Amino acid sequence: MKYASTINISNFQKDLITWFEEEQRMLPWRENQDPYRVWVSEIMLQQTKVDTVIPYFNNFMEKFPTVTALAEAPEQDVLKAWEGLGYYSRARNLQTAVREVVEQYDAKVPDDPKQFGDLKGVGPYTQGAVLSIAFDKAEPAVDGNVMRVLSRVLLIEEDIAKPKTRKTFEAAVRELISQENPSAFNQGLMELGALVCTPTKPSCLLCPVQEHCIAYREGVEQTLPIKKKKVKQSFRSYFALVLEDEAGNILLEQRPSEGLLAQLWQFPMVDTKEVDEQHLAAYIQEKFQIEIVSTKDLEPVKHVFSHLTWHLDVKFIRIKGEPTISNNMVKLTRQAIEQYPLPVSHQNIYKQI
Ligand code: SF4
Repeated sequence: MKYASTINISNFQKDLITWFEEEQRMLPWRENQDPYRVWVSEIMLQQTKVDTVIPYFNNFMEKFPTVTALAEAPEQDVLKAWEGLGYYSRARNLQTAVREVVEQYDAKVPDDPKQFGDLKGVGPYTQGAVLSIAFDKAEPAVDGNVMRVLSRVLLIEEDIAKPKTRKTFEAAVRELISQENPSAFNQGLMELGALVCTPTKPSCLLCPVQEHCIAYREGVEQTLPIKKKKVKQSFRSYFALVLEDEAGNILLEQRPSEGLLAQLWQFPMVDTKEVDEQHLAAYIQEKFQIEIVSTKDLEPVKHVFSHLTWHLDVKFIRIKGEPTISNNMVKLTRQAIEQYPLPVSHQNIYKQI
């Protein structure tokens, strides 16, 4: 019991849970404890803000209301419903996982930590969040919010950028968590991090656990949590080609099945390191075996991923002749393009045409 001497655990639980029950935001996934809904929401909320997630969540639940509905849906439909949320491997993994739930657990989300934790895409945070929120199990669910809150309350000065630090926080939650109401306890920690104990200016004067908070007492809340690692951004520049034939059809290509934005569709892209502007027309004519009738520059598009920035120089090119296309390409009317899942950057190109 490492923290029993530094904090009154039962009062801390009471203050946190009472606050959460009174002040929590009404969010669609909090309407009930359906584990499937909680699971989908937790996956969507990874790296994505609550306000952005809400309409996606509602739409997703309408389209795929149950584990079985999601398991049976074509992957393209699932990616389409995820279009714009980013980190598309989340959607693919979720579908793989629910298919396993249907096959192995009779379409019931397992409440066993090992069984649930072994499903595709379920990391320690998602595991703890679903088990505690939906099944009332006293499991830790440690994300960035929880690490921030607890680093301040308990004055934990370990670097949260290091993966092993999570273990320290999981051990702390195991010691602090309410056995009677682990769901409200974990959600209370997350909600406190989102609404009160925010990264830059925590609202300590309004904080329901202020009297337990060591960092506040010592006036060091702004210096916590410790986070040392800096992510290096890299930069890539491409031509994005909107190639339209005489009948008004446009070419789309599918991205590879692995890696960034896997299997989404895009206007063909050419790395500017491979072909410069001067040689672009010749490159296109040779690659697609067509003639270029006219070329127009559209607005360039920039997209920032977590480690990478794309700059897309967008060319609208009218072509003559039947283009030679590879297996991963299709020719579509403008309207038909809407049925295909495009990454945000290419949706922004689509809006321009
Ligand atoms: S008192 Fe301030 S630093 Fe401590 S938990 Fe509350 S908001 Fe965070």
